[in-house]
Amino acid sequence: MTDRKQNLLALSFEELEAWIVDLGWKKYRAKQILSWLYRRRAADFEEMTDLSKADRTLLAEKASLHHLEIVTHQRSVDGTQKFLLELEDGNRIESVLIPGDDRLTLCISSQAGCTLDCGFCLTAQEKLKRNLKAHEIVDQILTVQRTLPEETRITNVVMMGMGEPLANFNHVVEALKRMISPIGLGFSPRRVTVSTAGMVPQILKLWEAVPVNLSISLNATTNAVRDQIMPKVNRLYPIEELLKVCKAFPLPSRRRITFEYVLLAGVNDTPEDAARLVRLSRGIRCKVNLIPFNEFPGSPYRRPTDEQVLRFQKTLLDADLTATIRKSKGRDILAACGQLNSEFAARPLSQKQLEPIGLLPS
Ligand code: SF4
Repeated sequence: MTDRKQNLLALSFEELEAWIVDLGWKKYRAKQILSWLYRRRAADFEEMTDLSKADRTLLAEKASLHHLEIVTHQRSVDGTQKFLLELEDGNRIESVLIPGDDRLTLCISSQAGCTLDCGFCLTAQEKLKRNLKAHEIVDQILTVQRTLPEETRITNVVMMGMGEPLANFNHVVEALKRMISPIGLGFSPRRVTVSTAGMVPQILKLWEAVPVNLSISLNATTNAVRDQIMPKVNRLYPIEELLKVCKAFPLPSRRRITFEYVLLAGVNDTPEDAARLVRLSRGIRCKVNLIPFNEFPGSPYRRPTDEQVLRFQKTLLDADLTATIRKSKGRDILAACGQLNSEFAARPLSQKQLEPIGLLPS
């Protein structure tokens, strides 16, 4: 019976070692099995060919390698792929694979739903079902990787999918450790990014635990606007507190904090906002990633015109701030930033829903 077996992917490295010793095997064999789980990404014990047939049979009797189930797999006209994945308890999450010129990035989720009510985000409509466990976070990478040809590797991971990662701190830290450990997935910490809406007390703690890239979803230059578009987090940790922790952040040389800034027409995209953003970012080694709002059916905000976006960017560039404009990918399948929602994902959007928000593929 599968449910009585130990899912080896659910164990931390230390727990796997203890489990192996309990089995009566030598401790070093845990490393052998870890290598099959994370580096060689075995889907079955039979693939573990440096174990004897008897050992593989014993493992299959006692343990399982349970992976997330792919419910739907959509492809955008621009090459982005969105995966709706089912957890063991039936809850669903989304992951998005984004091809770039020299990289293949997977955007993963940290919670099923979210408690923060960011007004520009479709996940917010889903409410929190539960935190993901460490292995469910990591397994998004393993599961999507298995759909790719052998020679195609996911090169970067961003935790910007469903949920607020720092509200699921312990599981997220454990998952990040498995991602960057040489006996885990072996990603360089520079290729892993955690994006937070601004959970101030956990920001430094995260860096102390795992020094991955930090991205902060700022999105406003006054508390009045941030209270309106990110009400829950900004009332707890207003802009001054958020920037204070960013200033105190012990960044090593050549690394920067990224401020994500979703541009909402007429809300936070004025010339005054751009000038304030320049002032607020002074003294913080940072870059700004501008994200023209990705509309979704029923969204209360509008995407600014390209001219408005370029004008906003120019003010930042003129002040010597690094500012890029995120090319939104996967909008036609609701896979772009702020568009993830497992309930929407289960039923494809109709032409009637896509047309008014300009999302019909050309
Ligand atoms: S933007 Fe992030 S933190 Fe805010 S509601 Fe969406 S998933 Fe949650």
